[in-house]
Amino acid sequence: MTELKLYNTLTRKKEVFKPIKKEEAGMYSCGPTVYWFQHIGNMRAYLFADALKRVLEYNGYKVKHVINVTDVGHLTSDADEGEDKMEKAAVKEGKSAEEIAGFYFKVFREDLKKLNIKEPSVWCRATEHIKEQIELIKKLEEKGFTYKTSDGIYFNSTKFKDYGKLARLKIGGLESGKRVAFGEKKHRTDFALWKFSSPGEKRQQEWKSPWGVGFPGWHVECSAMSMKYLGENFDIHTGGEDHISVHHTNEIAQSESATGKKFVDYWMHVAFLLNKGEKVSKSKGGFFTVSELQEKGYNPLDFRYLCLLTHYRKPLNFSLDNLDAAKNAHRKMIRKIVELKSEKHKGQDDTEKYEELFENAINDDLNLSEAIGVVWGMLDDFNFDPKKKLKLLERFDQVLGLGIKEMKEEKVEASKEILELVKEREKLRKAKMWADADIFRERILEKGFIVSDTDDGPRLEKI
Ligand code: AMP
Ligand code: ZN
Repeated sequence: MTELKLYNTLTRKKEVFKPIKKEEAGMYSCGPTVYWFQHIGNMRAYLFADALKRVLEYNGYKVKHVINVTDVGHLTSDADEGEDKMEKAAVKEGKSAEEIAGFYFKVFREDLKKLNIKEPSVWCRATEHIKEQIELIKKLEEKGFTYKTSDGIYFNSTKFKDYGKLARLKIGGLESGKRVAFGEKKHRTDFALWKFSSPGEKRQQEWKSPWGVGFPGWHVECSAMSMKYLGENFDIHTGGEDHISVHHTNEIAQSESATGKKFVDYWMHVAFLLNKGEKVSKSKGGFFTVSELQEKGYNPLDFRYLCLLTHYRKPLNFSLDNLDAAKNAHRKMIRKIVELKSEKHKGQDDTEKYEELFENAINDDLNLSEAIGVVWGMLDDFNFDPKKKLKLLERFDQVLGLGIKEMKEEKVEASKEILELVKEREKLRKAKMWADADIFRERILEKGFIVSDTDDGPRLEKI
């Protein structure tokens, strides 16, 4: 098999993956802040991490995957100001922060399942690792990396020689002028390790610490928990590209200052899913969730298929038109695979040829769109023995996660009334009365079925 190459944000290069322990890979992914639903932009980040894990496993690595759950300390502003997102949501919804976290975490896990995303080996919640976070801050304090202000304990970013190496930040430029903008912090890039509860404020989530009652800063949880479960130096850390300049930069600074060791060997970041060219964010009022796509008649795996088509380092311009196109291609693939399952003729064995093409694609920094191209090439290759082809496709599905083994013809049991509507719509389409035909499509949709047009005529699917 070709060597596995991964793009490392730290070096801005594709590098051959060399694990710390032979045949094992330790991997940490920044997880959800559980104050609201995760939108499909967030889900792209987890689909990426899932694809990476699957490619590592395909290459024979035993992967230990850790995902954190941020249930305290993530403030509405990255500059350590504003409200705690969890406390704010608790007040808004009239529930406890614990209930809020429990609810959105549950929905998140259900969404992962719908998208065929494998569960990590370890889920770790920030509120369950307060001790570890305090220990890390104590270590940093002992080594002289911290200082105190009236609202918390801060990390002094100028004390860490390589601060900003991941994002290639020019610290000099950031330092000059405008002290006012960062209050009592000594430098703009300093960040909170521990925040004090404000005098007179009664927070739901607060803990005693050597510095006073309060709560940990957001960045410290990822360093404390990743090192607890994966060791002080581990293989891969993933997250969205938005995390490069602040969150991951700060994780590196505090971890490497505390241990004196290199923290992570490969930093990998997924580009954003965009809506009409703009970044999708929860704070801007959110975006579709997986359930909302289902309500619109999509199978969550249509979205998985869509994500497979764009390389993870390229922005994905999302639109329902794009999703429709992906859905049609995905459904066509399902039909072809279902047909393949009942094919009886014999053919030649092209396993090696396609295996090489597929493995070259996935091992070239996860080129999954090319891998999907290989699958289509196979499906259209009538000389390749159907049984062997199917067996190979099922193996490739360890990476693609489209559920090839389970694919079967869906028997649609529709009432006479619905079949009548389909017939009427077909007549209108043939008469090119598109607007009227669309009205029928809507009516069919209201009754819980989606009608799509194929070369063999209309097809019905249950939502
Ligand atoms: P959050 O719950 O906001 O902390 O985000 C969870 C994960 O989703 C992080 O790794 C983010 O970088 C990532 N993320 C947020 N928005 C997007 C987006 N539009 N596209 C891709 N990843 C995103
Ligand atoms: Zn993180």
